[in-house]
Order: sequence, then C-alpha cells, then structure tokens
Amino acid sequence: MSGPRSSTIAPVDVSTFLAGFLRREGALAEVLEDGALECVLPRELCAATGLPEAPRLRLLSPAGAQETPLALESSALRACLERALARGQRASAVLEAPSGGKPGALSESLIARFTALNGSLRPRGLRSVRLAIQVLEFRYQAVGEERQEGSLFVAHEPTLGLLSLPLADELLQRLLSAEPGAAPLESPALALSAAAVERHVERHLRARLAPLCQRLSVRMLRDAERLCEYYDTLLSEATRRRRVAQGLEASAEKAAAIQRQREEKLRELAFRYAVEVRTEVASVLDLGYSAPALDAVLLRKQRTIPLTLVRDPFLREPLPFLCRGCGEPTLALHACDEAGHLTCAACAAPCAACGRVTCRTCVPAGCKVCTRT
Ligand SMILES: [Zn+2]
Ligand SMILES: [Zn+2]
Ligand SMILES: [Zn+2]
Repeated sequence: MSGPRSSTIAPVDVSTFLAGFLRREGALAEVLEDGALECVLPRELCAATGLPEAPRLRLLSPAGAQETPLALESSALRACLERALARGQRASAVLEAPSGGKPGALSESLIARFTALNGSLRPRGLRSVRLAIQVLEFRYQAVGEERQEGSLFVAHEPTLGLLSLPLADELLQRLLSAEPGAAPLESPALALSAAAVERHVERHLRARLAPLCQRLSVRMLRDAERLCEYYDTLLSEATRRRRVAQGLEASAEKAAAIQRQREEKLRELAFRYAVEVRTEVASVLDLGYSAPALDAVLLRKQRTIPLTLVRDPFLREPLPFLCRGCGEPTLALHACDEAGHLTCAACAAPCAACGRVTCRTCVPAGCKVCTRT
C-alpha cells in the first residue's frame, strides 16, 4: 500500500466529496471552516464504515481532540468510495500503476501490436503518460415477458481516444487499492464520452441479451404454432359446415373473419414477446494513473499522422483506439487521404458494389461513389 499523497490531493476536495456522499446516504454532514467534517450518520452507515454515530472527521491531516482522523488508506474512506461507486454516482480516484518492462522491448512490442492498414507506423519515442480513464457504468433493463437487468462497464480515455471493455473490469478489481480523488465536476464532456462509447456498449448488450431473446423467440414460436393450429381447426370447422349447409356466402365471410382474428392474435403475440431495452449511464468513475506510451507516426503518402500508443500497466495489453467511424475499439488503423482520419478495418472495407474505400468519418453514409448518385 502506498503512503499518503496529500501533496496531490487537497483535503478539502476529499471533505467535499465525502460530505456530498454522506448526505446522499441520509447523513447530516457539514464541512467546517477549518476543514473538519462534522456529521451524524445513520446506523447502517456506521456499520459499513466503522465510524461512530456523530464523528467530527479530520481528513488527511493530524486530528485534534474529539476528532476522528481519516487517512486516505482508512477502511472507512474506502468503504465510502466503494459505496459511492455502487450507488451510481460520480467519483474519482487515483491508482498506483505497476512499472512496465524494458523500454526497448516495450517500444517494439507496442508497434507490433498495431497495424497501419494503408501506411506504415514509425516509433518516435517512449514516455510516460497520465491516463484519465472514465469508467462508465451503463445500467440496462430488458423489459418483456421476462426481465433482465444489470450493468455493463466500459473504460474510455477521451483525450487519447482509447476504448476498452476488459480494461473497465480490470480497473474495478483494482478499486480496493485506489485512493479517492477530488470530487469530479459534472460536465458536458461526460455526455460526449457516453455518446462516443454508446455504440460499442449497445453491441455488447445485444450479445449479452441474446440468450434472453432466443428463449423468448422459442416461446413465441411455440405459442404461434398453437395459435395457428387453433385457427386452422376453426377454419376447417367452418368449411365443413359450409359443405353441409351450402351457405356459401355466409361461410366465406366467416372464414375471412377467422383469418383476420388470427392475424391480429399473431401481431399481439409479437408485441408481447418483444424486448424493450433501456440503458442509462448510472455512474462514472474517473481514474488517473500513469502508463507507458509510445509516440509514433502513421505515414500515409505525404501525410504524417501523430499517434500515442499506450500499453496499459494493469491489463498488460495495448489499449485500442475508438474508431471514429463505428465506435468500436481497434488496433488496426486506416488513414483517409482527404483529412487523415483514422478508422478501423471494418470501416475501411471496400464497397461491395464498386470496390472503392470510403472514409466513414468523411462520409458516414457509406460509399462516396455509390451514394453520389
Ligand atoms: Zn470502424
Ligand atoms: Zn461503392
Ligand atoms: Zn476522412
């Protein structure tokens, strides 16, 4: 465990974060002028944090008489942080990253993991970058004949344009060793971040909900079969009666009515078994830590496109870029000749009709040749 790092974290920030958190949990909390935090805690919170019922908390500095000291390492503060995260709020923390391998090997292995689809990659120099990762929790609810809900976490580094689902899971495992950071501010950047990663999250969600949809469609088919059998019987009954009674007109009408009713019931069935999926960003955790990075350039014709390739110290893997075309993570990059946009292999696939490659950032609609007409 690392020592206190009060030089980078202001006690007042932690006090404000903690006061806000405690109030949301039903406590009374007030930051005093001298920085102490005076609170009255509900019993449940006392049990979770091990704090007395009415403590005067002194954060990150020596406590006076009648005060309860609260260091960054304290289990009480950690319990609060974990709870804040679990309750779908905003929080921030800093992580101590393990140091990387040998610089020479690192540079080579990083370059080797990325692919320039229509150019070449050249290393420029290794350095350490401070990553500002946002771990976004997407809370989902699938509502239908069956219900399923849960959370999907995704890690996004907006400055470098990095995206990874496995990284989010990895970082959540590391939270126990995280130090709480300053209370993050609500910002429009957050909405942008959520929008940037949404498509990747939705694709994953579809995969996660596939078994549910599969189960429901099996049930729907079974019900539909029964329904059809029932109406087939009705129809053949009607036909039989027609033969007996020779009341042609009336029976044809009756048959049409049965058909209409059957169509209606089938539509109802489809509606009943449809799955509505709702998602929302339930919490955001800002995590800061250092990572080894390789500044590189992608050379394409006369163009030189600067890139920062990052190896995540926790995941021990390179972090993929977020493709601006489709929102998916990618280690392979295609550079567009018009503006130097970088997109993934799927976005840079040749048009099925004319074979031309279109930059999906320049022309999101599709092939620049085929869509022109
Ligand atoms: Zn793409
Ligand atoms: Zn085309
Ligand atoms: Zn472009």
